[in-house]
Amino acid sequence: MASVLVFIDVPGLPLPRASRELLTIASELGQPAVASPRALSDEVLQALGDYGVASVYEPEEELPDVLIAAKSAFLAETAQAAEAAAVLLGNSFEDREVAARTGIKLGSGVITDAVAVAPDFSVTKSVLAGSYTSTCRVQTGIPVITVKANSVEPVPAQASAVPERHRVAVPDAGPAARVTGRTEKRVSGRPELSEARVIVAGGRGMDGDFTPVENLADALGGAVGASRAATDAGWIEHSAQVGQTGKTVSPQLYISAGISGAIQQKAGMQTAKVIVAVNKDADAPVFEIADFGIVGDVFSVLPQATEEIKKRRS
Ligand SMILES: Cc1cc2nc3c(=O)[nH]c(=O)nc-3n(C[C@H](O)[C@H](O)[C@H](O)COP(=O)(O)OP(=O)(O)OC[C@H]3O[C@@H](n4cnc5c(N)ncnc54)[C@H](O)[C@@H]3O)c2cc1C
Repeated sequence: MASVLVFIDVPGLPLPRASRELLTIASELGQPAVASPRALSDEVLQALGDYGVASVYEPEEELPDVLIAAKSAFLAETAQAAEAAAVLLGNSFEDREVAARTGIKLGSGVITDAVAVAPDFSVTKSVLAGSYTSTCRVQTGIPVITVKANSVEPVPAQASAVPERHRVAVPDAGPAARVTGRTEKRVSGRPELSEARVIVAGGRGMDGDFTPVENLADALGGAVGASRAATDAGWIEHSAQVGQTGKTVSPQLYISAGISGAIQQKAGMQTAKVIVAVNKDADAPVFEIADFGIVGDVFSVLPQATEEIKKRRS
């Protein structure tokens, strides 16, 4: 069976949902193998085995602390060593950049924003701000495909075995930006935005106070998102921005609060399974794509919803 290589960077335990989704897709396409740019513990190896991974590829020597370039050199080398039929990655900014550089090194086509991959490696993706679904297929080289989170339900393999480790000699990555310092990011305890199954997003209508958005997100165990108007105003960090120039998300539930629904915002959230919009303007464009709409003041609706959810959960 042809091997399908999944690029997983820093897998912790439990394995992140996005990684388990990629492994599930890989196992439907062939024999899943994993390329990890750093050495994995035996526990992680076993967890990968639970998802049908037979081979894990790690660099022979620790990769230099540079941005992207070394990971791409490693992944391209591994794809050839593993004789991979396809390479799958996540859809984060970094993963997409690794995919692009890997594609260049392999002389392969790259497809981003996939939501499904068929056995013949044709890819379904949502395009033009989610208004169309297109199907495309790489014509040259080993297909390199980045898949959006929440595209499939992760399913462990029926049988589990500890994967075999392989070491890959990584060629010089060439010129690259070197990392000169790191600062720990403040941990919120909330799920990562691009992987979250529930997102509560606030816009200019929050008028500088994101507390009701955060409280509702916490009551639902979700992540906090924002429109660009809110991040530009400095009400919340830029990493929370959803949209054309922010993150593309595809949660089960997206609650949009005080966001008008500009095309650039829709581009990042239109593929959410259920969209609930809260806006005091009944003509706001967000209601065109909302499954449920509440015409009302966010400072009244959000706290009521939070209270009710907490009551029902207790
Ligand atoms: C190249 C480019 C890229 C862009 N990228 C992005 C992007 O990635 N993401 C993004 O979001 N935008 C992006 N934008 C900006 C986008 O065009 C909009 O300006 C932005 O999304 C508006 O944010 P907003 O909906 O929060 O604000 P507004 O459009 O001002 O809407 C605020 C809404 O809140 C409602 N409201 C006000 N007070 C209340 C209240 N108390 N209760 C309930 N509702 C209330 C109002 O009725 C209104 O509908 C981009 C623009 C450009 C040109």
